[in-house]
Amino acid sequence: MRYSQYLLPTLKESPADAEIASHQLMTRAGMIRKVASGIYSYMPFGLRSIRKVEQIVREEMNRAGAIECLMPMANPAELWQESGRWGKYGKELLRFKDRKQTEFCMGPTHEEVVTDIVRNTVNSYRQLPLNLYQIQTKFRDEIRPRFGLMRGREFIMKDAYSFDLEEGDADKSYEKMYQAYRRIFARCGLKFRAVEADSGAIGGAFSHEFMVLAESGEDAIVSCVSCEYAANVEKAEILCSAEAGAAVTLPLKKVATPGQKSIDEVAAFLQLSADKLLKTLIVQTDSDEFVAVLLRGDHELNEIKLLNLLGGDWVVMAEEADVVRVTGAPTGFAGPVGLKLRVIADNAVRQMSDFVIGANEKDCHYTGANLDRDFKVEIFADLRQAVGSDPCPRCGGELESWRGVEVGHVFKLGTKYSEAMGATVLDDQGKSRELIMGCYGIGIGRTVAASIEQNHDEHGIIWPMPIAPFQVLVVMLNPKDDAVREASEDLYAELLDLGIEVLLDDRKERPGAKFKDADLIGIPFRVTVGARTLKEGQFEFKARAGGEVEMLPVAEAAAELKARVVAAL
Ligand code: ATP
Ligand code: MG
Repeated sequence: MRYSQYLLPTLKESPADAEIASHQLMTRAGMIRKVASGIYSYMPFGLRSIRKVEQIVREEMNRAGAIECLMPMANPAELWQESGRWGKYGKELLRFKDRKQTEFCMGPTHEEVVTDIVRNTVNSYRQLPLNLYQIQTKFRDEIRPRFGLMRGREFIMKDAYSFDLEEGDADKSYEKMYQAYRRIFARCGLKFRAVEADSGAIGGAFSHEFMVLAESGEDAIVSCVSCEYAANVEKAEILCSAEAGAAVTLPLKKVATPGQKSIDEVAAFLQLSADKLLKTLIVQTDSDEFVAVLLRGDHELNEIKLLNLLGGDWVVMAEEADVVRVTGAPTGFAGPVGLKLRVIADNAVRQMSDFVIGANEKDCHYTGANLDRDFKVEIFADLRQAVGSDPCPRCGGELESWRGVEVGHVFKLGTKYSEAMGATVLDDQGKSRELIMGCYGIGIGRTVAASIEQNHDEHGIIWPMPIAPFQVLVVMLNPKDDAVREASEDLYAELLDLGIEVLLDDRKERPGAKFKDADLIGIPFRVTVGARTLKEGQFEFKARAGGEVEMLPVAEAAAELKARVVAAL
């Protein structure tokens, strides 16, 4: 490709809404252009990288025995009503009507459509195992689209769905996808972790997220220094300490805490550390029950763990008016003494004694509060967010904390959809049985963005070779110099003949501008053709990732570059 004929609109400035490096650099390097909030055009340079990730994904899916198909973006409401998700999916589901007033949605995921295909085309156990995948555009009307392709509304996803009859076979299908994902992200040159993720009502360790490690990641993960354990903090279990609580020494005493609402404010006011305070959260369940949840003051609630304990579809923090109604005091002064609600507590509360709680009265707290003597807890459970200082729940070793970007998700679904939609096959006894499903997603654009998060410096992108839009950039320093032009053109032609993806910067720009763009767009290998070095029969070679400038003899340059590209793939 000739830069002068290409459409690669680089920018000096980042767009105002670009908060993270990948969003800034993808825009500045002419990879994407915003069309509407969370909706982007893939510009030619960006599309090349997207296609490379797709190709790696496709090769690994095929290798693992999955079969490619392509389902429609427009999904009839009918199918979503059958699964029960038409009513449940909420506002992320973009719904519309056609000219006959038939309702549709833009597919945010395709369990319904794929289950419909399978129930209509697969009827015998002999056709199993089956794994269908597609690489397709999804639409989710995200509440807060941001970070460019990381969290778009329209985005490309690879989604695969496995179908088996026996649990053991379904587990094998899951394992195959898990291994395929490891290969995919390793081939993309990413530093990643596969972490245990929350699988909601299904339980067990049958959901893993693939996290690319990056400071800007929206997810918090912990991993063990000594064993293989790694989990999303949403899921990370916390070992329940066997230690008995400290002795009770103080009487319950009401103290004035005027205007002191937050844990930090109360702790500072009473000159205590936050772990001597008890946090009382009033939550509302989807069956309209209010529940008091107790946590040590320095701990944070893990809403997913709470939801798994309480059951139902959601829990929310109670609104101010409800807090006043059920506790008799404004938010900030709730406490378990005398409260007429179910009281549940995090395991760590068991170890506490002589602590501070809200008094269910404005501007008042109790000191010297103690379990059992002053109030009762109905259930103790693991309800809090894990932190780096917690011990590993598997081996007791040390945990490390990371930020991560979720690029992939593997999930054992079970029979949720096959049951709702009647996807059954006959087993070897001629008996009709529901299929056991798994679903497996990879965000293609998010993977490219995550790679840039890991691979950039202050000047621009540093592409790993396997997903780089081009492999070699040839910078023609002075296109007016006949020798320089001819040597550049020859090298360009030779590299093309060798099957190398090469961009020839033949623009009439100053060298400084060309080098700036070269650093910004980050093509792994840069070859500079200049009059001075050419007189010595040499090209200048530099890897974007760093290292010394080297000289390549003109005659050997193409073959040498090819060897280096192949080694880096
Ligand atoms: P998140 O928690 O980030 O919203 P999710 O759990 O909703 O992700 P899945 O439904 O498991 O995501 O989708 C599979 C994959 O699709 C994700 O791992 C991610 O890589 C990608 N993905 C999901 N939502 C988006 C989005 N809004 N923009 C870009 N990629 C996305
Ligand atoms: Mg989501």
